[in-house]
Amino acid sequence: TFTIPENGFGIVSAYARQLELEAQARGEHRPAPRPLQMGEPNFLTPKHIRQAAIETLEQDIIPYGPSSGWHWLRELLAEKIERVNGYHVGAENVAVSMGGTNALQSIFHAIVGHGDEVLVPDPCWPLYYNQLLTCGATAVPYVLDAANEWLPSIADLERLVTPRTRILLINTPGNPTGAVFPRALIADLLEFARRHDLYLLSDECYDQIVFEGVHVSPATMLNEEEMEQGRFIGVYTFSKTYAMTGWRVGYAVAGKALIKDIIGVLAANHTNVSLIAQRAAGAALKGPQDCVSTMRDAYHRRRDLATDLLKAHDRYIYTPHGAFYALIDVRDRSGHTSRKGSQFSLDLLREYNVMVTPGSSFGATTGDFVRISLAASDEDVAHGVRAICEFAER
Ligand code: PLP
Repeated sequence: TFTIPENGFGIVSAYARQLELEAQARGEHRPAPRPLQMGEPNFLTPKHIRQAAIETLEQDIIPYGPSSGWHWLRELLAEKIERVNGYHVGAENVAVSMGGTNALQSIFHAIVGHGDEVLVPDPCWPLYYNQLLTCGATAVPYVLDAANEWLPSIADLERLVTPRTRILLINTPGNPTGAVFPRALIADLLEFARRHDLYLLSDECYDQIVFEGVHVSPATMLNEEEMEQGRFIGVYTFSKTYAMTGWRVGYAVAGKALIKDIIGVLAANHTNVSLIAQRAAGAALKGPQDCVSTMRDAYHRRRDLATDLLKAHDRYIYTPHGAFYALIDVRDRSGHTSRKGSQFSLDLLREYNVMVTPGSSFGATTGDFVRISLAASDEDVAHGVRAICEFAER
């Protein structure tokens, strides 16, 4: 009963391959497109993290492990939550997962089933839809308003909540918007969740990539009893903070009883995250943290580069305050576009060899946008933004 956004990412990737093959058939070489489509840092995983994995491989048996994650990593994660996110939990409140993706899927499976409804942002990271589909639950989109800094309104949520609603899902810093929810809004969202007896699921995968303001976790506003009742669930990942996308390590944080249920799902799905990846994650937490700020500074610089270029072309952009994306409105000056959905992105790829993700991939409200990733090189970002502006103006 809900529509999964079109897989714009897949459509654009398939077209890139087609263009490459067509060029080959003509005996030509088509250079690789400028990659602005991926939510993937263009940095190597820092050396001390890779080193920990190498040592594990050389010195250890790689056994099955606890489905919760090894206790030493859960303890380190509880410390990180206190140090970075500003709320108190113990190792028993943490479950290690294969990236944030697997944490989210396990949380959904632990909580919702057929007929249940989950309030999800529009636009959002599209796999929420696919994951809810696997549970038989229904995604009910609530709008993040481009005209209001991509923030949601409580009035809108009040209109959408029903007796079947189980979870309010929020994502800040947000993909694809780059919005960072202010403290007062977080407080209102928490109050809304309490009022309607909902779980508040907070996807904080970009918690350490913030350029202005601060990331506020709703958990900082809960007392210990509320935390233990398990109404709050936080989701985090190593993918973005430490350039570890392919290592597949993330974690969920919640009350102990709910964490046990989530671990049950994790056990059924994959038994455990590899010891190699967990040791690397431990090294990331114990080691120097300057790699985090170095990468964040690079995303910040590219954010400025992109917004300056867009302003110079007189093009609207909301300045993203966190994560590493920018949504760009690609309508012409009269506010129209003849290219709907993924068409702008396909034509841009053919004519300018720049790969972006169509806004239609993230929900129903962003068909007139494309998303660029700032996790590409400065040169690719600058070249890509110029191409988008020129093409949109044609
Ligand atoms: N949540 C959001 C908002 C994301 O953008 C992503 C990845 O792009 C994820 C979760 C999942 O990331 P991972 O599974 O690599 O931790």
